Amino acid sequence: MSTIAFIGLGIMGGPMAAHLVDAGHDVVGHNLSRLAVDVLVERGGRAATDTADAVREADVVITMVPDSPDVEALVFSEDGILAHAKPGTLHIDCSTIRPDVARRIAEAERERGIRPVDAPVSGGEPAAVEATLSIMVGGADDDVAAARPLLETVGRTVVHVGPSGAGQTVKAANQLIVAGNIQLVAEALVFLEAYGVDTESALEVLGGGLAGSTVLARKGATMRARTFAPGFRIDLHHKDLGIVTAAAREAGVAIPLGAHVAQLVGALRAQGHGSLDHSALLTQVEALSGR
Ligand code: NAD
Repeated sequence: MSTIAFIGLGIMGGPMAAHLVDAGHDVVGHNLSRLAVDVLVERGGRAATDTADAVREADVVITMVPDSPDVEALVFSEDGILAHAKPGTLHIDCSTIRPDVARRIAEAERERGIRPVDAPVSGGEPAAVEATLSIMVGGADDDVAAARPLLETVGRTVVHVGPSGAGQTVKAANQLIVAGNIQLVAEALVFLEAYGVDTESALEVLGGGLAGSTVLARKGATMRARTFAPGFRIDLHHKDLGIVTAAAREAGVAIPLGAHVAQLVGALRAQGHGSLDHSALLTQVEALSGR
């Protein structure tokens, strides 16, 4: 069993850390707000006072924070991972960040003898709670092999997709697909409602055919119920679409539909809805339709 520093105990990190405690690991948690740390301690974990305190004795550091600058701060700051983790420590970053930042972090960590793995996740809060996440992993073979048992404790589909940064590239593609899918499910639901069709029956039959998807089933249900508490915040999806838009431009790849959906997500955020679940794209389709 390992001593694991788990930093970022939010919607995703909280349940992931709890599974690692349940599996018998010594989990030391750190989070900006104290409440989430108290929940972990209640579950059998321990509380750290700051990042340095969390990582100092750890065999493994797992980070699950919002954005690239957050991970960079945890790695490079004075009380961070480079300054305080033991050589040989495995750093598994499960946050969704820019692939180029993941590569830069990996390079700096290797120089210090720290073993970097980028392991962003998909499946949302329900999959974090049920330990059925899909995890796209980048890194050196032996580092990924060392991370695998922990990743399999929180996930069901764990795939090594390439060297450092490759996990984040796959996650960027994931976010492109999910955003487009959500926008089209929202448009379809508003369309069906305009014709007075029972959307519950419609979702059932659509789900059995080629239109079926996890997004249709899960986000279709939250749209029907109009429950827009996150889930996955519009703010975070806006961040992810920024990542994929920049990376696609860098590679010279056209993403015309993805760029359009990125604008729609950005517009919802600009109207002050950044803290709602991304299924709230429905409300914008309704507004554009005068409904
Ligand atoms: P969240 O905002 O709920 O949680 C992030 C947590 O990190 C917060 O509790 C915050 O206090 C903590 N944090 C931030 N900076 C910190 C620091 N320097 N030290 C300690 N704690 C710090 O976000 P989330 O929804 O759990 O998402 C986390 C990451 O996972 C993001 O990169 C997101 O894009 C990705 N993700 C989220 C989902 C989802 O459905 N919510 C799904 C897949 C991937």
